[in-house]
Order: sequence, then C-alpha cells, then structure tokens
Amino acid sequence: MINQQTETSGAVCICPECKNPVDLSRYPNLAAGMVIECNHCGMTLLVKDTANGQVQTEIVDEGK
Ligand SMILES: [Zn+2]
Repeated sequence: MINQQTETSGAVCICPECKNPVDLSRYPNLAAGMVIECNHCGMTLLVKDTANGQVQTEIVDEGK
C-alpha cells in the first residue's frame, strides 16, 4: 500500500528496523531527543534530528 500521509508538518520517518514509514501523527510535537515507537515493528526509536522534514532516528537498545 502506497499512501504517504504527511500530517506532522510534512515530516517523514522511515523506521531503520523495518523500513516502513512510522506514523508520526501520534507525536504532534516531534523533536530531537524524543523517543518514539514504530507502529509496524514496535521498535523504540530515538529521534536524532527533524531537519528538512526528514526525521532521523536511532534504534534504542532496551537491553538493560
Ligand atoms: Zn519498524
């Protein structure tokens, strides 16, 4: 299914784990340092940067 919804100021975040676009509508105030969760694979992602509508994330290692 190709359906590009860009509700959060046009920001797009591709999950580094499953390569699917993460639903950012759950995070209306997305900013660097926030932790989000991929709605496809459930991976926890740390937001590194939100510049130019491209949300850069890093997989958070939850192994404690
Ligand atoms: Zn994912």
